[in-house]
Amino acid sequence: MLTFEKSEQPLLIAGPCSAETREQVLQIADDLSSLPINIFRAGIWKPRTKPGNFEGCGSIGLQWLQEVKQTYRTPVATEVAQPQHIEQALKHGIDVLWIGARTVVNPFQVQELANCLKGVPMPILVKNPVTPDIDLWEGAIQRFEKAGVSQVMAIHRGFSSYNASLQYRNHPNWIIPIELKRRRPDLLLLSDPSHISGKASLVGEVAQKAMDIGFNGLMIETHHQPPQAWSDAAQQITPIELKEILSHLIVRKQFTEDVIKSSELEYLRQLMDGIDAEIIDLLARRMQLSDRIGALKKDCNMTAYQPDRWNEMLESIRERGGKQYLSKNFLAALFEHIHDESIRRQIAVMKHSDQSANH
Ligand code: PEP
Ligand code: MN
Repeated sequence: MLTFEKSEQPLLIAGPCSAETREQVLQIADDLSSLPINIFRAGIWKPRTKPGNFEGCGSIGLQWLQEVKQTYRTPVATEVAQPQHIEQALKHGIDVLWIGARTVVNPFQVQELANCLKGVPMPILVKNPVTPDIDLWEGAIQRFEKAGVSQVMAIHRGFSSYNASLQYRNHPNWIIPIELKRRRPDLLLLSDPSHISGKASLVGEVAQKAMDIGFNGLMIETHHQPPQAWSDAAQQITPIELKEILSHLIVRKQFTEDVIKSSELEYLRQLMDGIDAEIIDLLARRMQLSDRIGALKKDCNMTAYQPDRWNEMLESIRERGGKQYLSKNFLAALFEHIHDESIRRQIAVMKHSDQSANH
């Protein structure tokens, strides 16, 4: 039974976005054969955003993947989105299946796929849904686990947004895979730098960031002639470029055996814990002030939210933070939460004293 363990080296999945022709698939597999690839990937059925784009070669591509598997002795993977895809893939000895980001958003569809895989001993890779919804992602993982497949792994491929950021095609929102890893430390968590980046030049940087965070592997779209690719041309890299990225990739460990560094780390963490305790005490004091302010505003029949005051606060927070080399975006986001909670507390005080007045 095929399963993958956590190891010092990242689990590596590479291959084209789409299988286009037999020659293309075999050429890329051959070019990748000198690299330490654990799984060869190619999309056969492609979920495209708009009709009219290349929607995959269909079942014929499964035979090409079979050829790759036999010739290079590499497990092969493809995306499935419908029960008939699973049926076809199993018939052709595909070793690993992945569930795409557009499928994971739909629990009915995910459950239908999980039902088709009941008791099937094969690894299933579950991409994050296109929406930044961690429960939906975790839920999809659980549906396959409950179906009894032999292994479920998670792939982080970033999240859609209306205003696609200039930097990324799909915003990484690293906090979400970090939270998944907190909830499910047992799972192998892979990164898909290709779909996060949307452009070849960013793939190496995102792959390194994933290693810095502690991801367990990478899925990277690879094509022998990226500009001519029938899908996702801008983000695919050549096997040579992949080799180059791998040669520079720094893989980090979860723990260290260095006793001196460990105790230094422990010391710094203790200092940090002390500061966190102080932050909590300060926040509690700040919120007590919010309660008093809420009572005053209630007496004067003033609104809890005061836009001018909030603008002034943001400005001085940014200025002070800038002097201390703190990121302005970080501070704004942090104080938005604090301010939001303060308003909530003030409104609670207003409501409470309203209620007592009515009695
Ligand atoms: C893919 O891996 O080719 C793919 C379609 O990915 P996603 O589901 O992440 O968009
Ligand atoms: Mn793709």
